[in-house]
Amino acid sequence: MKIHFFGAARTTTGSMYLLEVNGKKLLLECGLFQGHRQESEQLNKNFPFDPKTVDAVVLSHAHLDHAGKLPSLCKNYDGPIHCTPATRDLCGIMLLDSAHIQEQDAIFVSKVRARKHQPPVEPLYTTADAGKAVRQLVATDYEKPFQPVDGVTVTFRDAGHILGSAQVILDVREGNRKFRYLFSGDVGRGNDEILRDPGPVENVDYLQIESTYAARVHEQRPDADALVGQLVGETLAQKGRIIIPAFSVGRTQQIVYVLHELTCAGRLPKIPIFVDSPLSVNATEIYKKHPECLKDTIRDTLCNNEDPFGMGNLTYIRDVEESKKLNDRKEPMVIISASGMCEGGRIRHHLKNNLGDAKNLILFIGFCAENTLGAQIVAGKSPVNIFGEPYQVRAKVVFLDTYSGHADKNELKRYVEKLSGDLKEIVCIHGEESQCLAHAETLRAMKPKAQVIVPEYMQVVEI
Ligand SMILES: [Zn+2]
Repeated sequence: MKIHFFGAARTTTGSMYLLEVNGKKLLLECGLFQGHRQESEQLNKNFPFDPKTVDAVVLSHAHLDHAGKLPSLCKNYDGPIHCTPATRDLCGIMLLDSAHIQEQDAIFVSKVRARKHQPPVEPLYTTADAGKAVRQLVATDYEKPFQPVDGVTVTFRDAGHILGSAQVILDVREGNRKFRYLFSGDVGRGNDEILRDPGPVENVDYLQIESTYAARVHEQRPDADALVGQLVGETLAQKGRIIIPAFSVGRTQQIVYVLHELTCAGRLPKIPIFVDSPLSVNATEIYKKHPECLKDTIRDTLCNNEDPFGMGNLTYIRDVEESKKLNDRKEPMVIISASGMCEGGRIRHHLKNNLGDAKNLILFIGFCAENTLGAQIVAGKSPVNIFGEPYQVRAKVVFLDTYSGHADKNELKRYVEKLSGDLKEIVCIHGEESQCLAHAETLRAMKPKAQVIVPEYMQVVEI
């Protein structure tokens, strides 16, 4: 079997791995590159292989850095995209949302170009392209083996990263040779309030593992919940507002759940809380539709018709006029909005209106890539540019990485310790170069018999 590393090699985004096995081509992940605009644009526009020659696609989860390039692929690929049922439903909203953003961006850029008498640009893909990709999604439950191509049996096992996220177990038969190749997908932290722990995998021969936080240690969650309670409480005491930029899928549901628990425990007063993002609202509906992916405790709550993602003082906002009305309200409140890195979405309006007041708190709960508006605010930059205007940052800014959906150094070690089998080779992917290299060192010490490699972009590994 040959594996082509076409993305997330010594970087975190653009996950894409092409497996050549038994004369067939199986594509694992089809993600967007995110980061520096021009560089990502080029990488996102082209495929380093002909999509028509792909026989099947397997997808670990719905995040755009893993699934966001599927609409481009499906312009020239008509075959199945295998994933779990929750991933299928999440892709249904996320790919359409992504296409809508691409279309809006293209309109904006074309307007600017028109002023310079330059021809308009096309979006990377359209909502029609996204619709086609969504129709090609084929859902299979966790632990139900299926055969996407001859000689390869795939089983999804819970990865505990976001709703529907899976580790991909590939049982490969090539002639007389049989082996198990495990792709970890993105590995969750474990001990989550909402999601189950990543399931251990047995008899692994080869492991391809993510490295996002392989050299870092996150704070423990109970400490973070208490800190959130304290920070929100302090802000309320000085009649300030709390603005929380959060990814629509995963972080939003998690912070809502934490605020719910703090309120139920009497550690926070029943202040107005708003989730202001149509995508976050839709994603939360999908969380409720898939209790089979959730922890028993939350599943029981849902089955008793109680809503772990809702309470009397919490309002979900889809409508843009309702969103604008939040600015006219003067009382203290919590506003959770997307996007998490503040590069798009309604959060930019809330930042524009609230950054200048020292009574307010801007609470970051997720990773912000370099150069994004979120990263600038976290780094203490002031003023920051929003919609082309400078805004002074006087509000208190706090960054917490505890609510990360990714396992840290110790949690990744625990994940590997729980795997059984005679590991022959380990491939470290999906992390900045320093994280991947540090991960490789950790794994060499843990598994001295295994060869550990950190592939470069476009490298081919044969096993
Ligand atoms: Zn992910």
